[in-house]
Amino acid sequence: MDGSMRCDLAILGGGLAGGLIAHALSVRRPDLSLRLIEAQPVLGGGRVWAFPANDIEPEHRWIVEPFLSRTWNGYDVVFPAHRRSLGVRYHAVRPAEHDAGLRRVLTPETPVHARIARASATRVVLANGRTIDAAGVIDARGPGDLGLLDVRWRKYLGRELLLDRPHGIAMPIVMDAATPQQDGCHFMQVLPLDRRRLFVAACYFSDRRLADAHQMRRRIDDYADQNGWRVGEMTAEEAGVTPMLLDGGFDGYWESGGEHAAKAGARAALLHPATGAAVADAVRLAAYVAELPDLAGPALHEALRVHAARAWGERSFYRMVAKMLFHIADDDARYRLFERLYRLPPKLIDRFNAMQSTPADKLRILAGRPSLPLSQTFRALMGSER
Ligand SMILES: Cc1cc2nc3c(=O)[nH]c(=O)nc-3n(C[C@H](O)[C@H](O)[C@H](O)COP(=O)(O)OP(=O)(O)OC[C@H]3O[C@@H](n4cnc5c(N)ncnc54)[C@H](O)[C@@H]3O)c2cc1C
Repeated sequence: MDGSMRCDLAILGGGLAGGLIAHALSVRRPDLSLRLIEAQPVLGGGRVWAFPANDIEPEHRWIVEPFLSRTWNGYDVVFPAHRRSLGVRYHAVRPAEHDAGLRRVLTPETPVHARIARASATRVVLANGRTIDAAGVIDARGPGDLGLLDVRWRKYLGRELLLDRPHGIAMPIVMDAATPQQDGCHFMQVLPLDRRRLFVAACYFSDRRLADAHQMRRRIDDYADQNGWRVGEMTAEEAGVTPMLLDGGFDGYWESGGEHAAKAGARAALLHPATGAAVADAVRLAAYVAELPDLAGPALHEALRVHAARAWGERSFYRMVAKMLFHIADDDARYRLFERLYRLPPKLIDRFNAMQSTPADKLRILAGRPSLPLSQTFRALMGSER
């Protein structure tokens, strides 16, 4: 073996975005030879993904359907002054099902578990010295240089808990902010996985990237106590930090992730700026890539750059909402922005989560309290940068 491989397309990073692109291409373009190069032993990102069903366009559902672990017919939100059930379907993908689902679709030679040392638009060098030459490369290894953007952080620690008794919770609690506020906007999330099993997460929208895992675990323990849950066993834990995008120049950020390299996922800034959610964008991009006529170096780079630049350009409103959250609201009152959002009509909330708000939606979201300076509100509505 000379240590080199050849393929049509190499996807760098088999997390959320890379995994879904590999899946979509395996289904739509089985003629292609693909490599999905991932440093970790699991594919799909190794996290629980949870998202409203309406985040995914009906024609793209086939991209996530094989991985869905649970679907509920609604979800709840809880705030100090307001509690609400929304009749909107909500999905969760668990890491084991995600990994197994991907391996069922991908050819056995597609996943390559190795650390990538460096890459260009047509060549990947692995840390073990092997090289992969490809007609095209998509880099989906997570964020580029976030120092070039104005970002804040969504911090998160989640635990899967097996309880001694049934918990009696029927629907996910997507945001429970009726908890002591600390380190920005703090809320708990609960996914009822089966009668006795819950996924419980402590989440923060915070100015500080540093995450205090002990504090987050304590929050989960306290929350379990408050709810009278007797925990028999903690069966899994995951933690991470993801950027929330307030401002910055797209071009510099794009180049920071590798000159002439086609990019996907957080590396292409494809995230909901005000929530850090990534599933909707990852599915849209996978659908887009699966239809591209040319997956070779320069054409691939240009197609993905145009897609990501357009998304960035269309999202100044959501970056403005993120700014409201971090610049305008008092630290202890940030959750009120979501409390207010979740009093609005369900379809408006859906469109906000899917980043498809209408001009009238935007006005309603910006018009309440906490309020923004008029000039910023105007620019957000017109879709222009600061
Ligand atoms: C804990 C947590 C939970 C989240 N939950 C949700 C959610 O429920 N719903 C939602 O919409 N969003 C969620 N998000 C946001 C979302 O995770 C991220 O924004 C998303 O992972 C970005 O997708 P990605 O494919 O760009 O990166 P990732 O999913 O992080 O994938 C990058 C992959 O590249 C691999 N990699 C990196 N460097 C190398 C290398 N040198 N060699 C080989 N492989 C490499 C990594 O191992 C990883 O698997 C969550 C974020 C966090 C932190």
